[in-house]
Amino acid sequence: MDPETNFDGVRNVGIKGNRIVKITEEKITGKETIDAKGHVVAPGFINTHTHSFAPFGQKIMVRDGTTTILDTELGVADVSVFYRKYQGKMLLNFGVSVGHEPVRIVVLDGVDIKLASDPTFGAVSRGAAEKKDGRANWALDIPNKEQTTRMMAMYERGLRDGAIGVSSTVGYMGYGVTTRELFDLQKLAKKFERIFGAHTRFGPTESLPLHYSLGTREIIANAVAIDGALLLSHIQNQGWQEIYFLARALQDRGMVIFPEFYPSIYGNPNIATPGLKPDKIKLNNVNIATDIIDPVTGKNYTEAQFFKEQKEQPSKTVFLLLRPKEDMPKWVHMKDTAIANDIMAVFLPNGKLPPITMPYKDYKGHPRNPGTYGKVFRMAREQKVPLMDIVHNASYTPAKYLSKLELKAMQERGRMQEGMIADITIFNPETITDNSSFKMGEQGLPTTGIPYVLISGKVVVRDSKVDIEATPGQPIRYPVMKKGDDPKKYAK
Ligand SMILES: [Zn+2]
Repeated sequence: MDPETNFDGVRNVGIKGNRIVKITEEKITGKETIDAKGHVVAPGFINTHTHSFAPFGQKIMVRDGTTTILDTELGVADVSVFYRKYQGKMLLNFGVSVGHEPVRIVVLDGVDIKLASDPTFGAVSRGAAEKKDGRANWALDIPNKEQTTRMMAMYERGLRDGAIGVSSTVGYMGYGVTTRELFDLQKLAKKFERIFGAHTRFGPTESLPLHYSLGTREIIANAVAIDGALLLSHIQNQGWQEIYFLARALQDRGMVIFPEFYPSIYGNPNIATPGLKPDKIKLNNVNIATDIIDPVTGKNYTEAQFFKEQKEQPSKTVFLLLRPKEDMPKWVHMKDTAIANDIMAVFLPNGKLPPITMPYKDYKGHPRNPGTYGKVFRMAREQKVPLMDIVHNASYTPAKYLSKLELKAMQERGRMQEGMIADITIFNPETITDNSSFKMGEQGLPTTGIPYVLISGKVVVRDSKVDIEATPGQPIRYPVMKKGDDPKKYAK
């Protein structure tokens, strides 16, 4: 299946090196043959919203059909530190934006720039800021002139270092970020013709219900005025119908804008998020006894235990109920809307990342982490949504819009066509399903029905088994600019 041309037919696919070289009805031979009878051969799934680049996270994501993971929401403080760290070591293709929160956390809280340059440690970074003085300056402070100048220089450097865009988690920083600060960030992204991705203001935990769409309108208004490109993070929050309508209407007018969603009614924020602090939690209509699950016990919290852990383990993440369960089946009907799991890295009790060999049943993280694509394909099958629509969202939507911004790595992915990079996901449309749930022992269970995944022509999942030694993952990045280069050098 090729979602760009809507091609759906039985063909042989020839791969040489890292590329698809032949798609034909004729017989072809090669060193190795995969029998894909009864399966869909699709472009690898492109996950636009990932916060874990750790080995175990990659293992569960590749089982879910993912071949590329991007962080376009949190981002990093120093883009070159990030790419240098993962170059040549990744199973999946990887990319990152320069991020509003990590830059703020470095400048306003004095958190180490290296820690703030890997989204895997995003929650640890927040915890470190909290531990310093019990206050999240990054979320609550309005920067002075000198701090603003320093931050703007850091964003610009990130873009010159090849960041895929500028991103913001302003939804967690509603008290400290002025409309002007956010507008200036969008203008900077526009100056380089890159995507601006955001978890917008007033949600999910800093507002009364139905205001998340208002925050989204803020960045949409800016983008329309400056003709900027937008990625709307996890739109399934409050007011999602309105946000979806706005995005689709602007897509129809030719704007580079796409929404993204994850298929769960629970979010996965930091326990010490300002909106969950004692002075704000009631305002935000969060009921601790019914709305928050402890990933470690699988149970709801008591108020006393929740606030105790908030003080003692500020890096911990929790599951937070955000939407009524009737909403979820509706999301798979959204068109030209990317699917992303918003994975948060999971740590062992000793604070270390789990080894790639850890049994799936020992994983204590959000079930969306291993099961996002499996769940969307299953729900779509149950509701008879055309398969091509979901392949389109899973593989092509991000590639399409990022292609328009001249990101070369996305111009040669997300499509089943001759000449494209051979990132391929082979799945059984009748059986593909998620297996993860909030139950203990089931949080990390991988998706089934995806027997083969190829990345850059290398088979990394074979008979549903992951090659844990493989490192074919390529950086998804704009070229690093030289001093004096025009910001629009790589734009059309
Ligand atoms: Zn978010």
